[in-house]
Amino acid sequence: MKINKLRMTFLLICFVVLAPLLVPTAFILHGIYLRRLRASADLFKCIGCGQILGRKSIELADDEWARRMRELMDRQPGRRLRIVRNLHAICRNCGKQYQFDEKTRTFSEHLSA
Ligand SMILES: [Zn+2]
Repeated sequence: MKINKLRMTFLLICFVVLAPLLVPTAFILHGIYLRRLRASADLFKCIGCGQILGRKSIELADDEWARRMRELMDRQPGRRLRIVRNLHAICRNCGKQYQFDEKTRTFSEHLSA
């Protein structure tokens, strides 16, 4: 019983001390991720038309993803959804959709509709 209380106090202290670090860390990690995504898009040639994807393809995918999420929320209001984003770039030339793999830093064809 006493050990449990001590452990809880210790965890609480850890959380209070570390919490202010979580947000900046998340921001930094997200910044690194975005840089990798953009750098990869600047090098990747669309498998449909051969054009470089570029930054515009990421913006197109951001807009499309936001639209899909709004649509989903409208269909199921108030429901908590667990969604993993799988659309990261859309070719501005031919409209082919891609998913980004951060580990390999490359794009693969987006399959699910
Ligand atoms: Zn294309």
